[in-house]
Amino acid sequence: MRKRFHFSNTSRPNTLSRFFAFVWATCLSILSAVAWPQAWQYHSTPRFVIAYSPEQKNSAMQLLGEVQAEDTQLAERLQFMPRRTITIFLCPTQSSFERLTGGIIPHWGEAAADPVHWRIFLKAPRLQEGKQITIKHELAHLLLAELAHPHRLPRWFNEGAAIFLAAETQHLEPALISRAMVTNSLLSFDDIEALLSFPNEKAGLAYSESYHAVNFLVQRHGFAALAEFAQALAQHPNPRAAFQSACGEDLWDFEVAYFDYVRKKFRWYFLLDENVLWGVGIFTLFIAAYIVTRMRTRKKAAQWENEERETPSEEEPDAREENDEDHDEQNRS
Ligand SMILES: [Zn+2]
Repeated sequence: MRKRFHFSNTSRPNTLSRFFAFVWATCLSILSAVAWPQAWQYHSTPRFVIAYSPEQKNSAMQLLGEVQAEDTQLAERLQFMPRRTITIFLCPTQSSFERLTGGIIPHWGEAAADPVHWRIFLKAPRLQEGKQITIKHELAHLLLAELAHPHRLPRWFNEGAAIFLAAETQHLEPALISRAMVTNSLLSFDDIEALLSFPNEKAGLAYSESYHAVNFLVQRHGFAALAEFAQALAQHPNPRAAFQSACGEDLWDFEVAYFDYVRKKFRWYFLLDENVLWGVGIFTLFIAAYIVTRMRTRKKAAQWENEERETPSEEEPDAREENDEDHDEQNRS
């Protein structure tokens, strides 16, 4: 909601205070124009309202077509008919995105879903810095939130299931998990709750771990477990009770089994780590250079030895002369 500024009428302002009031009002209107588009335009369908600035109309209409198709597909997969009306804001500027999301989205965040007001905030395509944003991820958040309403989803499950349902595995870096294993810094489900306060690389680890936890959940309890766990959360605010009810397993036991699975799966992934590859590459080059130098040295030494053998030494003629003299003496005798 936009803030309103009220000026008191109890005392008559003098010229100076009028001037400052004018400057203040001008600054506010400039700031407001930068942070807030002059006019949002809206387009509604039974399920979605899309808000956009006039110059984003084509992008907005294209996005609306995509989101409706994704919505149908997700609802079919989760076997659930969502009823909430979702408002999508296509933010034309970084400042409008920050303002609408209350500034809580870290710099690496390109989109956000608000399950309290059933809203999705997206940056306009030109602001996305080449990162492909899929509306499906944010939509999955809101479908799962509707299943779990009025309770909230645990962060590991919410993010992992959104990545799983949107099939966004191309953004995950397995090396982050293997590196965390080496440094003993894997994140627990409780740690992942603080995801929004994480720096970029740690957030990447949290997203990767969340996805693999949900992937493991599907392997262990089937795809239906996603909707069942979310629906159980509607009945049980405590995730542990909801997990027990939906999957018949203690959430802590599941977490322990998941860590075993991750350690086994990513045991050798450290070999693909960029730093390890660089290290191995440099070591290989060093060894190759050492072998080549040694071979050259040996070849050179052998060449000198041959040359020495072929070149007669200065002592040899004398020896021949002595032999000749002995030979003459023998002949004479
Ligand atoms: Zn997300």
